[in-house]
Amino acid sequence: MGIALVTGASAGLGLEFAWQLATARHDVVLVARDEGRLTRLAGQLEAAAGIHAEVLAADLTDRADVERVAERLRSDERPVGLLVNNAGLGLNQHFVSGDLAAEDRALELMVRTVMALSHAAAGAMVRRERGAILNVGSVAGLIASGTYSAHKAWVRVFTEALAVELKGTGVTATVVAPGFTRTEFHERGRIDTAHYPAIGWLDAEDVVAAALADVRRGVVLSTPSLRYKAASALLRLAPRSAVRTFGGYRRALLDEALEAPAPDA
Ligand code: NAP
Repeated sequence: MGIALVTGASAGLGLEFAWQLATARHDVVLVARDEGRLTRLAGQLEAAAGIHAEVLAADLTDRADVERVAERLRSDERPVGLLVNNAGLGLNQHFVSGDLAAEDRALELMVRTVMALSHAAAGAMVRRERGAILNVGSVAGLIASGTYSAHKAWVRVFTEALAVELKGTGVTATVVAPGFTRTEFHERGRIDTAHYPAIGWLDAEDVVAAALADVRRGVVLSTPSLRYKAASALLRLAPRSAVRTFGGYRRALLDEALEAPAPDA
């Protein structure tokens, strides 16, 4: 897979992708907004794994920044062989009463940027007849829980369509659909996880190891853990009216959280 470019590498799953890829002797390109964190990580990866780590600070909701990352993906100098479209966020708001600008940023980050970077990477990789694209979706893409579910459903269908188009080119596309994973995601999004079942939680290390194993095998749909494989199979078979009850559950939790005073109020 050669050099790997990971978006959202400053925290959570992206940080874990960077470590596991570096440990497997891949040079890495680290992308996120927090340049300080990325620079520290690059130093740690170089010292611990003896690889080369590039830092590419970018706000992936800003189209000029996205274009700089796309340029890096198109470049034939130190070519990128694996793109991991991982950066993402959770919104702690209802759609109707929520802030549309925040919705726009979420859509830009988790849909438009994934499309633009996949386009840049796929074009260069097909030309070189090798490469892999890994898009981070979510098990939420199978249910109806806010616009986040819609974004992650888009990521899944988009990646499957990309895999169909890439067949026979030497380039693969994989979408990983994790369940709840311990990262900074919920705290950053001010999402209350007190009611989440303990059995639902996954470790970033296991999610990333499963996703990278599936990329190496050319698997298109990757669902880490037996628990979530079983849950996803049930969700695919269940009538959509039953699946929508999960969205109702999230709605009730959000109602409760939004009624509670903000922690810093
Ligand atoms: P996290 O710990 O909050 O990390 C999010 C990463 O995305 C950070 O590195 C952050 O870096 C980056 N990011 C956020 N906004 C950005 C922007 N505008 N431009 C560039 N980078 C940005 O969350 P995580 O759990 O690792 O999430 C990674 C992916 O997994 C997301 O796509 C998420 O939807 C998905 N996922 C997470 C879970 C879960 O339960 N944690 C479950 C299923 C799927 P900076 O702040 O430095 O920019």
